[in-house]
Amino acid sequence: MIEPALYLVATPIGNLGDLSPRAVEVLKASSCVLCEDTRHSQRLFKRLEFERTLLSCHEHNETGRIQQALDDVASGKVVSLISDAGTPAISDPGFRIVRAFRAAGQKVISIPGPCAAIAALAASGLPTDQFRYLGFLPPKSAARLRNFETLKDASETLVFYESTHRILKFLKDLRSVVGDERIVCVARELTKMHETTHTGPLLEVEEAVTRGSQKGEFVVLIAREGYSLT
Ligand code: SAM
Repeated sequence: MIEPALYLVATPIGNLGDLSPRAVEVLKASSCVLCEDTRHSQRLFKRLEFERTLLSCHEHNETGRIQQALDDVASGKVVSLISDAGTPAISDPGFRIVRAFRAAGQKVISIPGPCAAIAALAASGLPTDQFRYLGFLPPKSAARLRNFETLKDASETLVFYESTHRILKFLKDLRSVVGDERIVCVARELTKMHETTHTGPLLEVEEAVTRGSQKGEFVVLIAREGYSLT
């Protein structure tokens, strides 16, 4: 029995085998599934071989969607929120609907699963006891450099998301602030066919990323100054 609530359902970040049985059970029980892009999410449901009403939820229709979801759950329905990939509300839409549900005293339940930041961190070899998630840095170099200046003395592992187009610029800017030797990890295309992870001193990792393919999605992790892999 799936109780009425808003469910945040994590979906695969590449490998469809990572969708949990519980996630499938909740999606099946949902009267509707809020998503970023209905066409993208249709592909997931095609693989699952069942259909649900998919409703796009974005900046322009969010207020109405949130109210409808609140009404649905209040009347005993199960509503799910998914994103294009990974955990909703983590560098993806979700925060505002969760806040509205909490403010209304309505139930929100996480169905945990894939999250690129956590998958990369866990396998990185960098300290996992304390980390700070920073998501995407601003796209412009000057703003990125200011961020690196502010963060360079952080004592915890720093976790960033980055895109195909900016990964090399990100690493170059980072090196200009923290130097060649800082231990970093660059994880590309996690759970996918071309998954590649490089961990080591920044200059070596940057060279390896430059030599390899920069296509795909990246997580970059930065260890605290002085951290050594051995
Ligand atoms: N909500 C997602 C999560 O839980 O990881 C993140 C969504 S965010 C819009 C997309 C970014 O996550 C990508 O640009 C990339 O930095 C990272 N990402 C997503 N999938 C990834 C993968 N398979 N491998 C590496 N990074 C990934």
